[in-house]
Amino acid sequence: MQKTPLGESKLSSSRLAYGCWRLAPASEVRTNLETARTAVLAAVEAGFTLFDHADVYCHTRAESAFGEVLRENPKLRKKLLVATKCGIRQAEEPPGAPHRYDFSAEHIIRSCENSLRRLHCEEIDLFQLHRPDWLMDADEVAIAFASLHKSGKVREFGVSNFSPAQVGMIQRTLLKKLEQPLVSNQVEISLAKLDAFTDATLDQCQTLNLTPLAWSPLAGGLLGDGGKASPPGEKAGRLAGVIAALDAMAAERNVTRAALALAWLLKHPAKIIPIIGSTNPDRIRAAAAADKIELSREDWYRLLHAARGEPLP
Ligand code: NAP
Repeated sequence: MQKTPLGESKLSSSRLAYGCWRLAPASEVRTNLETARTAVLAAVEAGFTLFDHADVYCHTRAESAFGEVLRENPKLRKKLLVATKCGIRQAEEPPGAPHRYDFSAEHIIRSCENSLRRLHCEEIDLFQLHRPDWLMDADEVAIAFASLHKSGKVREFGVSNFSPAQVGMIQRTLLKKLEQPLVSNQVEISLAKLDAFTDATLDQCQTLNLTPLAWSPLAGGLLGDGGKASPPGEKAGRLAGVIAALDAMAAERNVTRAALALAWLLKHPAKIIPIIGSTNPDRIRAAAAADKIELSREDWYRLLHAARGEPLP
């Protein structure tokens, strides 16, 4: 698979990333390890080099299962970039506490150390703030990031689900205090979720040279071949339209619907990295084929029209 740089850093990732959110759904450690081993090794073979985690995925079991796969395959770590996230705190942890976000320096540093232990890694390549903390203090985030970078625990930092204004605030402080800019903003982008194209997220990524990482690029399976049935409601009609347009174009080109939907994201000049989430080896391989699909401007706009469900002005 072709490579692309992460922001202004020296890190280079495969054009598509593999997301580990669904790696460990079972309560049994052995079942999770089997799922994780099969999916991760299939993704590596298909050319994925960036693996995206969060401490909260499967209540920390996703990081643990992935860490076990790394332990079983000691040569793998050097070939991969390991990304994870922190900042979401579950309800009842500790007992009585509400679901909340926490960007206190203490929580950021402790989360990173716990993730390192679960992932069997000495260093995290990309450490991201998962969802904006309503009490976010950019100075405190910078203190935590400086400490993690200085101690060699983290190479690069990113954010997720941040508005352009929130990215601007953190970036300004990091450049002042750490001289190390953010390299990424991870947001939901797909043919079923177009907000990033119009809310300045992708414009800002190009202005600041941040890499947009697209989560749920197949809308959690709604856009996948043989994927989940569309939920009823307002969006169902638009989704049916975009699936019909994808299927028509996919048949002409002899590619899968999923690969085409991913290639649509790859075409954008902001150099979007879609993070795919299938645990099925055939679907993982099929997704990697997006790297070889070139869309014309006309085809790109054809799919945009279908996704919007209404003409452009
Ligand atoms: P996705 O690739 O849009 O959806 C994957 C889901 O679609 C899987 O359940 C998969 O099932 C199903 N699917 C059905 N048909 C498929 C097909 N033909 N090809 C591929 N998948 C098909 O992505 P996602 O799992 O929702 O999210 C991907 C990653 O984004 C996560 O792992 C995580 O790293 C990241 N994420 C981040 C945030 C955030 O807030 N930052 C939020 C959500 C996700 P099978 O496994 O059976 O194939």
